[in-house]
Amino acid sequence: MPVYKAEGIVIRRGNLGEADRLVTLLCRDQGKVTAAAKGARKPKSRFAGRLELFSHVRVLLAVGRTLDVVSQVEVATAFAALRENLDRLAYAALTVELADRATADREPAPDLFRVLRTALDLMQTGDPQLIALWFAAQLLVHSGYAPTTDRCQVCGRSVRSGAAFSYALGGVLCGTDQHRDPDAVMASAGALRAIGYLLHVQPEALARLVLDPRQRTEVGGLLQGYAEYRLETKLKSPLVIQKLLKTGTPTPASPARGGARERGNGGTRTR
Ligand SMILES: [Zn+2]
Repeated sequence: MPVYKAEGIVIRRGNLGEADRLVTLLCRDQGKVTAAAKGARKPKSRFAGRLELFSHVRVLLAVGRTLDVVSQVEVATAFAALRENLDRLAYAALTVELADRATADREPAPDLFRVLRTALDLMQTGDPQLIALWFAAQLLVHSGYAPTTDRCQVCGRSVRSGAAFSYALGGVLCGTDQHRDPDAVMASAGALRAIGYLLHVQPEALARLVLDPRQRTEVGGLLQGYAEYRLETKLKSPLVIQKLLKTGTPTPASPARGGARERGNGGTRTR
């Protein structure tokens, strides 16, 4: 069987048959690759401890008929700290789930690999929730879905206050244009500023962003809702995080036109 080298981060693991493991790697050069690790669930497997979730590994893969097969693994960085603490584990799991949902098999995504590696590295010692928010914003940027946060997506007018945020139109809408998306959700000025910052900030400067728990919940809910809309998926990790860490309910954000509907004023738009 022909073999090839790959370097990647384990973003998903599953079981295959009686003793094998299925691992999905986000590879620097090949993009997302799922491969079988034969016998990896046996206690004395040569893969034991080497294909853990989040690990950055260098592998030798044999081309198989349906699935490639892992033949050698070398751990570059284990990121063990991410598996030893519930907070870090939960937010790292969200991060790799996002990376998984945003990528297609074998489509090279070297920028996303780099951002994922940076995020997991920072999470070992930094604030995992804030880093997960940064990663979500960066993932939108690298997937071509960065939302606008300070200009109306329809007319381009500057928006400085809280505003309707449209998943479908890709960003904020001014009062005049918010009717263009009845499903737009309301976003506070602080949350929009925070998202704008997360889209552009270098990771070293991330710690300068100060968000209280309520703002984190709002920003997380908006990024999650928007990412789920764009990636046409439903993320599992946010619910797990909510249960494990008892954070606030992240979604859905309140509809931007809810007030108008409640007053029953026959479809008059809120301004
Ligand atoms: Zn407008």
